[in-house]
Amino acid sequence: MINEPTRNDFLRLQGVRMGLKGSTMKTWLGRFRRVDRSKQVPGLRGISNDGTTVYIDRAMPRTLGAILLDPLFAAYTTVRHGLTMGARVDQKTASGLAAAAEHQLLTHIAPGVSWTEYQILLHPYERELEPEEVEDPPPDLALYPYSGPLYKTLWEFQQGKVPKSAVAYRKGSPAEHCGNCSMFRPHSHSCTLVIGLISPRYVCDEWEKKGAQADSRTPVGQADAPA
Ligand code: SF4
Repeated sequence: MINEPTRNDFLRLQGVRMGLKGSTMKTWLGRFRRVDRSKQVPGLRGISNDGTTVYIDRAMPRTLGAILLDPLFAAYTTVRHGLTMGARVDQKTASGLAAAAEHQLLTHIAPGVSWTEYQILLHPYERELEPEEVEDPPPDLALYPYSGPLYKTLWEFQQGKVPKSAVAYRKGSPAEHCGNCSMFRPHSHSCTLVIGLISPRYVCDEWEKKGAQADSRTPVGQADAPA
């Protein structure tokens, strides 16, 4: 649930729009081209790194009551991205000012609906995704709103790694297990192909005997995910 923007937020947003950083921010806002609702998006909404595509989680309805969500979500994400990438505003401030832009639009497209009522309607959809539940995020999602294990998982997707569910990760056998696979990295309990923490006792369909090949199927080579 996002706090209701304050009068100060509206004034600061107006100040950025009119100030020296305003034109840079507008350039970023002008990049927006389309909304994509086909992917899983932690946090319900996000934007591509290049600012052209607003991603809305595929489980979200198009409307909440009479409120059309696409323009509201697009306003929030494009303004936050413009402030972050164009105006170089810090994350917390950018999120607050983006909420102010969303609030302004709400008063136009749904007059009579308060910010609190809007947040209450959104609340049932705001379940936080666990990293293990992420299976199909946008490949070019801007990652700055995320942190911790979820950030790491999204980053690994962008490096070409695959989720455990895609390779039937399961208990291994004495002959075939992650501990004797060429892609296992014991110091970090990770794999150069599969996302997430990896147990040496498990195995997946991509098991490859250690030393058989020099990580030929490894999309990210020796690179480890960010801590
Ligand atoms: S490729 Fe599969 S078997 Fe090999 S370490 Fe990774 S998860 Fe384990």
